[in-house]
Amino acid sequence: MKRIDCVSCGRQDIDKNTIGINKKLLGLEVKNFYCMDCLASYLNTTVEDLNEKIEEFKDEGCKLFE
Ligand SMILES: [Zn+2]
Repeated sequence: MKRIDCVSCGRQDIDKNTIGINKKLLGLEVKNFYCMDCLASYLNTTVEDLNEKIEEFKDEGCKLFE
């Protein structure tokens, strides 16, 4: 699997769940990915909030998350 870096701050090796939440919230066709910190500020929310959403998607059995 290829490595993906945050398009905003350059943080390297964004994990699968972070990529999943990017796709969920920004759209499946999204090409640029944000780390949790940058995604939270981009969406005007908090990392805690995003983590809660990830847990919800996992509970739904979404394949984008592990
Ligand atoms: Zn970042």
